[in-house]
Amino acid sequence: MNIILMGPPGAGKGTQAKILVEEYGLKHISTGDILREAVKKGTPLGIKAKEYMDRGELVPDDIMVGLIREVLPKDNFILDGFPRTLPQAEALERMLKEEGIKIDAVIFFDVNDDVIVERLSGRRSCPSCGAVYHIKYNPPRNNEICDRCGTKLVQRDDDREEVVRKRLEVYRKQTEPLINYYREKGILRVVDGTKSVEEVKGEISSVLGNG
Ligand code: ADP
Ligand code: AMP
Repeated sequence: MNIILMGPPGAGKGTQAKILVEEYGLKHISTGDILREAVKKGTPLGIKAKEYMDRGELVPDDIMVGLIREVLPKDNFILDGFPRTLPQAEALERMLKEEGIKIDAVIFFDVNDDVIVERLSGRRSCPSCGAVYHIKYNPPRNNEICDRCGTKLVQRDDDREEVVRKRLEVYRKQTEPLINYYREKGILRVVDGTKSVEEVKGEISSVLGNG
């Protein structure tokens, strides 16, 4: 099974992707995580991507398409954060066609702006193992310390309020049109992303036909 997770920043895509990895044994491809790792390592990709990420803008399509071409498995994957523009979606479609790969569902997380702002302002992540928490909805056992590896949690630079506003604007302009693109292909599945993690998980199971 191959799935695309789509929705605004902070909608809960990464959180559900981790659950899907456990449940279905899928490989999680998060372009945001790949880019953040490259930034941390200071690779040429990371140096280039950082300028855009810090401003809340999208990294150029040619870079992102090249990156996906390198990491896309043949089967059993979750794409999280890609595609984010129409040219990326079209490039992905060509790539999948060449390889004979089919996308089973594009799961769209429907979430309003108030929820997004609350989710992003409370998001904390572990710089060491990548675990994601929320200060109110999914707090770590010990204040600001990762349950899994004991590292001090951090707030992502791009979760600051002014960058969040820009990311939302970019999402509306460049990514939202993809909802119709996939609806027209008949593979769009909408879940109510404002519900609890457990409830969203249930909705995803049911749209995937396992509810
Ligand atoms: P995305 O990958 O779409 O940017 P995340 O999965 O990182 O979003 O979630 C954003 C924040 O919201 C995180 O702090 C996460 O713990 C929290 N979160 C995710 N899903 C839910 C939910 N259903 N209810 C409440 N908080 C959630
Ligand atoms: P995310 O972790 O998915 O919220 O992504 C964080 C940031 O990485 C985004 O704000 C973009 O700057 C960049 N990014 C991630 N995926 C893409 C993509 N498919 N296209 C362009 N930029 C991306």
